[in-house]
Amino acid sequence: MEFNIKQIQETNAFACLECGKCTGVCPVARHSKTFSPRSILIKSIRNSHPDALKGSDLWSCLTCQQCDTICPSHIRYIDFMQLIRQFVGVTNQDATCSHGGIVDSILKIMTTPNLQQQRMDWITKDYQTTASGDYLYFVGCLPYYDVLFSSLEVHPLNIARSTIKILNYLDIQPQVLPNEKCCGHDFYWNGDLKNFKILAEQNLEQIRNSGAKQVITACPECYRTLKVEYAKFFGKTGFEVQHISEFLAVRLKDKHIPLKTEKLSACYHDPCRLGRHLGIYDAPRGVLSKLSGLTLNEMAHHHQRAICCGVTGWMNCSQISKQIQTHRLREAQATGSDILITSCPKCQIHFQCALLDKQLKEEIHFTIKDLVEVVAENLN
Ligand code: SF4
Ligand code: SF4
Ligand code: SF4
Repeated sequence: MEFNIKQIQETNAFACLECGKCTGVCPVARHSKTFSPRSILIKSIRNSHPDALKGSDLWSCLTCQQCDTICPSHIRYIDFMQLIRQFVGVTNQDATCSHGGIVDSILKIMTTPNLQQQRMDWITKDYQTTASGDYLYFVGCLPYYDVLFSSLEVHPLNIARSTIKILNYLDIQPQVLPNEKCCGHDFYWNGDLKNFKILAEQNLEQIRNSGAKQVITACPECYRTLKVEYAKFFGKTGFEVQHISEFLAVRLKDKHIPLKTEKLSACYHDPCRLGRHLGIYDAPRGVLSKLSGLTLNEMAHHHQRAICCGVTGWMNCSQISKQIQTHRLREAQATGSDILITSCPKCQIHFQCALLDKQLKEEIHFTIKDLVEVVAENLN
């Protein structure tokens, strides 16, 4: 992959003032003695050779967009990072796939065009779906995560079941694609454009053939990828995409759902892709306000300043990821909440993983759940 100066220019990277404000707000730099977004950018544009970036921890950047919010030159750092990763190549020694690369391997297997997956077993007779219709629920990789991360006491398929339960409550029977593929988010952000495009083309064909007009997802990464990246690379998709929180903020507008417990004190973690990337802060909070008896507390960092869950694209999970997660979980603990609610399956997995640390687990007195799980379990 060549160093594409025109594309790099479009991110405004050449306007860098070397002020270091990005490094000042970066959650990775906060815990690392060596990681510096400023110096990665400067090295990249001064010496457009992949070797110049050796040891720069390119894949430790969370593409969380925290730096973009403060950069005085309005540099689109995450787009710059995505381009640099494409240029350097994901086979680079600085890229370490977590869990021995098993997720990456599964995603690569999914690029096989005629692959037949068994990914619908979780839809029991309690959940109503349909073979045609305007609404399509894009499940994402939850059936795989449910197996891969079962030892972490997380149940990602509970997010999928809860989503369908809520849609059924609203008299909607969604389509679910029996051979849906990963949206390609991780390939895209890790710089593997070839595999991203293969998955995207397969999903686009399936969604278009379904005839659905509205795609709903409970994953901010699927949401961003289907809405932004598919349109960017393939033009008009022919369907609308919404995160479940946006959809419910409208559909539950006139409803009040009484809690099954007397009261619940909660704090909400803004996932980077939903919040900073796409500006959706009010919708999930609006949905929570429909639960009568739930009190919402804000953490020290919330909305645009929310801290990332510590890992992106299953890359370079390290001691620094754990420190970021610990910091965030302690912020949640400081609110005195009974529950930490997020609306991203991966945030839940990474936070729950941090609780494998016995000392931290003793300190933390709240449970971690997804927004849809909390809504669904309070429906009759
Ligand atoms: S904040 Fe922006 S201008 Fe300042 S060093 Fe970082 S990228 Fe450069
Ligand atoms: S995107 Fe996030 S992790 Fe990456 S350099 Fe910017 S602030 Fe740091
Ligand atoms: S934090 Fe996430 S990526 Fe890191 S080991 Fe745990 S589950 Fe894996």
